[in-house]
Parts: sequence; structure tokens; C-alpha cells
Amino acid sequence: MSSETLKIPQATAKRLPLYYRFLKNLHSAGKLRVSSAELSEAVKVDSATIRRDFSYFGALGKKGYGYNVDYLLSFFRKTLDQDELTKVALVGVGNLGTALLNYNFLKNNNTKISVAFDIDEAKIGSTMSGVTIYHMDDMEKVLEELGISIAILTVPAPYAQSITDRLAKANVKGILNFTPARLTVPATMRVHHIDLAVELQSLVYFLKHYGVNEVEEIE
Ligand code: ATP
Repeated sequence: MSSETLKIPQATAKRLPLYYRFLKNLHSAGKLRVSSAELSEAVKVDSATIRRDFSYFGALGKKGYGYNVDYLLSFFRKTLDQDELTKVALVGVGNLGTALLNYNFLKNNNTKISVAFDIDEAKIGSTMSGVTIYHMDDMEKVLEELGISIAILTVPAPYAQSITDRLAKANVKGILNFTPARLTVPATMRVHHIDLAVELQSLVYFLKHYGVNEVEEIE
């Protein structure tokens, strides 16, 4: 993200792609403005949070007018660096890795899995959804050649840390970690963790203990 966004709180920054996706749809539908209530209904974030978030973007909604869609869109595009395609590497082409490869990130984002790595000889050299799968031995070389600094990790958990250490040395700055392993990384690296099993378990817990309507703002 550009330096302009440095002062945006992390919880707000995490909602940016969500806002961006919805605003792109509005723009395609020819809408020029949108109210915080409409946005709130569509992205399921309460309107007070939306107003606070948008004030960080310098977007002040006018009463009875709402927000200017074009202004917000160009702000988000700039902030999310959406003008440039971000290449991403996938490490581990198992069930989950394959699903992510087949999932077309480009539909909503300007990010694309451009290369994949595995140790399974049966997969190496093949292509999946147009993406070539390389041997782990070639990882550093290929990442450097393609100038990739973001990786998605979908390997078995016991290998996650040692692969992360290699990625750090190969100048990778961001990891989207789908493994249950909690990773130790240098200060120059950022990890976002998506543990699907934990998310599912937490949904079951919340339903059981809080029901569907009790909502607490969690940031
Ligand atoms: P998942 O649903 O988690 O992807 P899976 O049953 O398809 O699971 P796993 O055993 O979890 O397969 O392995 C995921 C992928 O990671 C496989 O394609 C496997 O070959 C690959 N893999 C295993 N060890 C390593 C490693 N050390 N480095 C890179 N890839 C690995």
C-alpha cells in the first residue's frame, strides 16, 4: 500500500478490499453516489464504523447525498495498488492449494497466483489453471526471477516454518498462511493467518453461545 495509508488503523485497512469490491460493482452499475446505510447493508459492517473508516480516507459523506463513488474508487485503487498486477506464489499444491489455484482471484482483485511449488514429482512440471508447478529446490531462483514477494502457504503444518525461513531469505515480504502452524518471522515480514478449521469451530461456538443476533463489534 502507498505511504498515504500509513495512518489508517489496521482494522480499517482490512476492510478496504471489501469496500473496494462493492464500490466497483456500484460503479459498473452506473451509480454515482452511495449512502453509508446502503454500504452497511451490502458489506455487513455497521454504518458508524463505515463513516469512521471513510473519514480516514478523507471521504466525508454529505447528509442526503452520501459518498461520491468515483472519488472512493480512485482512492481505493491507489491505496490498494490495484493499478499494478501483484504476482503471488503458491507453496503446496494439495487439495487446498489446488482449490486456490483454480479460484480466479483476478475476478475481484489485481492479484494472481503466477507460480506454484511442491515436492511431489507427479505434480512438478505440470500446469494447473495455467500456472506451472516447480520443484521446491528451484523456489528461491524462480521467485527472484519473477520478482515475487508474496506467498500463499498450503503445505502440511510441520513443513511450514522451514519453508517460511526460506521464503524470508528469498526476500518474500508477505505470507498468507493457510496452515495451522503459528509462524515465527523476521520483523521485515508480515503473516496473515487463515485457519479454516478454527474459523469453522468458532462459528459453531458463536452460534451455540451467542445465537445469530447478538453482535459485538470485534476489531
Ligand atoms: P491439503 O488439503 O492440506 O492441501 P492434501 O491432503 O492435499 O492436503 P498435504 O499432505 O496437506 O496434502 O500436502 C499439501 C501439498 O503440499 C501436497 O501437494 C504435498 O505434495 C505438498 N508438500 C508436502 N510437503 C512439502 C514440502 N516440504 N514442500 C513443499 N510442498 C510440500
